[in-house]
Amino acid sequence: MERELVFETVMEPGTGKGVELRRGQVLRIEQVEGGQCADFNLFNLHDYKEHFHTARTRHMHGLMPSTGALLWSAPPRDRPIAALVTDTLGSNDILYGRCSAFLYDYQYGLPVHTNCHDIQAEAQREFGLTPDDVHDSFNFFMNTGIDPSGNPFIAPNLARRGDYVEILALIDVLAVANVCGADVMATSNFELKPLRIAIYESLPGELESQESRPEAAAHVTQRDPSTFRVKQIKADRELTRDKSYVPAFTNVPIQRQELDVQLSDAEIARLDHLIETGQLGSTRAEVLRYVFFSWWIEKFMQGPKHFDREAAKA
Ligand SMILES: [Zn+2]
Repeated sequence: MERELVFETVMEPGTGKGVELRRGQVLRIEQVEGGQCADFNLFNLHDYKEHFHTARTRHMHGLMPSTGALLWSAPPRDRPIAALVTDTLGSNDILYGRCSAFLYDYQYGLPVHTNCHDIQAEAQREFGLTPDDVHDSFNFFMNTGIDPSGNPFIAPNLARRGDYVEILALIDVLAVANVCGADVMATSNFELKPLRIAIYESLPGELESQESRPEAAAHVTQRDPSTFRVKQIKADRELTRDKSYVPAFTNVPIQRQELDVQLSDAEIARLDHLIETGQLGSTRAEVLRYVFFSWWIEKFMQGPKHFDREAAKA
């Protein structure tokens, strides 16, 4: 079944485009020639302070999310706002930050250079956002890794003409994509190429299948401005101390309780053996806490990666 096309355009190098997606609509970002990275920002259309959060998405889906990954918003909202429903290549990055004018100036000696930050800022301006509102990007078709010493690296772009990703909106969103400006990095194989973006209606049942995923279940801990102590967005730039401020942190005072744990001689011997390894702690109490919670995480922790593990067993 073909998706119904609503809108399409081609983004030329040096440009980007912001589009409104209604809940249930799909944005496709497609290679025109191949080998081109697309940087991507995503905002709640009705409250721009809620936007895509690379860190929560990394936590849930790893460093290189592909088909099936959700795009999460930042705490305190902490919820899926879109789903990556199609990815013909499976080579994406949410580790690197967007390229910026400073990077080309400082690292390459190129003070005048197309860059993702400035392109995003200009595209977002159509909706009243400022350059400060550009957030960490989802970098589609960007091929990255981490070397044995822990440093990230950029590898050749593997995208071919016609490769595409499809992002299904789970709420009304502003989606902003741009042609990454990096032609002096391997990001897009040292050449800038156009990208096609298109909006489609989702297929019957597609939205429901995403909304019925366990990760999409609503939790009372996912908060919105209705529960904020300060509900108004600050409209000036200067920070000044509120002299009437009285701290009201959640969940305090933190309760601490000593627990007696009954262990057999064999279990104590096992703990002492683990202390000798030097890896889990230096006292019986430290090692016991480590062992207990490692077991608990393995058995009871929830998350997309854990759901996958359950599905793999089934
Ligand atoms: Zn870039």
